[in-house]
Amino acid sequence: MSEPLVDGWGREIKSLRVSVTDRCNFRCRYCMPAEGLEWLGRDEVLSFEEMGRIVRVLADMGVDEIRLTGGEPLVRRELPLLVRMLAETPGVRDLSLTTNGILLDRLAAPLVEAGLRRINVSLDSLSHVRFAEITRRDALDRVLRGLEEAERYPELRPIKVNCVAIRGFTEEEIPALAELARKKPYVVRFIEFMPLDADEGWREEEVLTGGEIRALIEERWPLVEVPAKPSSTAKRFRFADGAGEIGFVNPVSEPFCSSCDRIRLTADGQLRTCLFSRREWDLKKPLRAGASDDELADLLRWAVRHKELKHRINEPGFVRASRSMSQIGG
Ligand code: SAM
Repeated sequence: MSEPLVDGWGREIKSLRVSVTDRCNFRCRYCMPAEGLEWLGRDEVLSFEEMGRIVRVLADMGVDEIRLTGGEPLVRRELPLLVRMLAETPGVRDLSLTTNGILLDRLAAPLVEAGLRRINVSLDSLSHVRFAEITRRDALDRVLRGLEEAERYPELRPIKVNCVAIRGFTEEEIPALAELARKKPYVVRFIEFMPLDADEGWREEEVLTGGEIRALIEERWPLVEVPAKPSSTAKRFRFADGAGEIGFVNPVSEPFCSSCDRIRLTADGQLRTCLFSRREWDLKKPLRAGASDDELADLLRWAVRHKELKHRINEPGFVRASRSMSQIGG
C-alpha cells in the first residue's frame, strides 16, 4: 500500500462518497426544485469502470470506506455490478449505500448478493400526506416496503433511517420516528437542514437542531449516549430502557469538520474535498486521456492537500457551495 492520504491540516482521508447519478425520482423540497434539474448527459457520467478505478487508486492510499449515493443511486442501471466490483476491491472494508428506498423492495436482494453490507434510507415523515408534501411523491408505502425487504437480510446491518430536520415540519414527526427506532431494527438519525437546497430557500431559522430534537425525545424517553468513532458524523444514543438507537448529525449547530475524513466524487467525475466546496478537481479528463494510476494518485494527493479547513455556514459572508446536494452526492 502507498502512503496514507493526508490533507493540509493533518487529517487522514479514509472515506469516499461516490455519486453514481445526479438523477432522482423524488423532488424533496429541501433538495431539488419540483421540475427537477438539468440532468447530466450520458457521456458526462462516469462509467462503473471509471468509478472502480478511482476507488482502487484511493483504496491503495488507505481509503477504506465507500458510500454510494446520488441523486438516487438505485435509478442507475445495473448498480449491483458496481457494488460487486467495489466489494471485491482490495482495501475496501466498508461499502454502504444511501437511498430514498423507493426501489429497494426490488433491489435489496441483488445488492446484498453483490456484497452490499450497510444501508441508509432517507425518510422524513411517517404520515402519507406529509411524506408526499416533503418529497412531492406519494411513495411512503413503497419506502416502508423497501425497508422491510432490507430487514430480511441480516448481512445488511445496521439499517439507518435518515430524516432531515426542518423547523416547522419535523417536530410533529419526532414521536413516530422515535417509535420506529424503538420497534424496528433501524437506527433513526436526524440530520440538520443545510444550505444545499437547489432552490436556495434555506434559512438559519429553519434549522431544527439535534439538541432540540433530543430534548423533545427525552421528555418521553430518556437517552444514554453511546460512544462513537472520532470521525463519526453522528452523536449516538440508545434509549435508556434498551429499546433501540437514535442519532443526531449536527453539521450546523455542532460542526465536525475538525475530524472530517471524507472526500466526494460527483457523477461527472469531479472530486470535491468538502460538501461546501466552491472548487472541484477534474478527474474525468485525465482518466479519459489515459492517465496512469500514479498520475491519478498524484492529482488526488494534490487535491486533498487543499481540502478546506471547515465549512463556514455560521460565519458572516458564507458563500453557498457551487452545486446543490443532489448534484454533489449527499
Ligand atoms: N437519493 C438518496 C437519498 O434520498 O438518500 C441519496 C442522495 S440524497 C441527496 C442524500 C441525503 O441528503 C438524503 O438523506 C437527503 O435527505 C439529504 N439532503 C438533501 N438535501 C439536504 C439538505 N439541504 N440538508 C440536509 N440534508 C439534505
